[in-house]
Amino acid sequence: MNPLYYQSRFLTSAANMSQLPPEGGLEIAFAGRSNAGKSSAINTLCQQKTLARTSKTPGRTQLINLFEVTEQRFLVDLPGYGFAKVAKSIKQQWQGVLAQYLEERESLIGIFMMMDSRHPFKNYDIQMLEWANHIGLPVHILLTKSDKLKKNAANNQLFKTKKELVDYHSNASIQLFSSLKKTGIDEAHSVLDQWLKITPAV
Ligand code: GDP
Repeated sequence: MNPLYYQSRFLTSAANMSQLPPEGGLEIAFAGRSNAGKSSAINTLCQQKTLARTSKTPGRTQLINLFEVTEQRFLVDLPGYGFAKVAKSIKQQWQGVLAQYLEERESLIGIFMMMDSRHPFKNYDIQMLEWANHIGLPVHILLTKSDKLKKNAANNQLFKTKKELVDYHSNASIQLFSSLKKTGIDEAHSVLDQWLKITPAV
């Protein structure tokens, strides 16, 4: 566990690339299908309620929301993909921003991907993984809501998904996570520490 993440604060929302802070920092993007538990995971990792509420504010759900952990270190909440309720034109627009961010952003160093532990590897997840692999971005997956599975079933699911993951990405890791039970935080923090070059808490 690294309490540094608990001081994360909302920095800005961006509707397009020009609204992002200047390049030069280190950014980890949080991606996942709507309802996968992405906001809850961000809240849990940062031990805050206000961050995810920020992203869920009407009008902000289609934006790229940036949270600053510490100087030049950011967690970036991407719009949930496969969001059926969004009008088609808006959908196309944010998919454009999302695509552009993932492809062009130099500060982006890795992706945290949330997948519901009971329903992993949906179409959009696979697309995202294959794309990240193609552009050479590492991915760390949180198998969310793991409390909904019994311990054995959860471990089996982890084993199975680990095996399947190599079909889509050559540099990806995966773990169980539950915001409800607050499990998996240490493991996730240590990946964030490593990627963001943050000294682990002692
Ligand atoms: P997002 O759309 O990906 O940001 O998903 P949310 O974080 O809003 O979560 C979607 C739903 O799943 C909400 O009803 C949450 O309460 C629920 N949820 C999220 N994380 C967990 C978890 O760890 N365990 C359980 N049981 N439910 C969760």
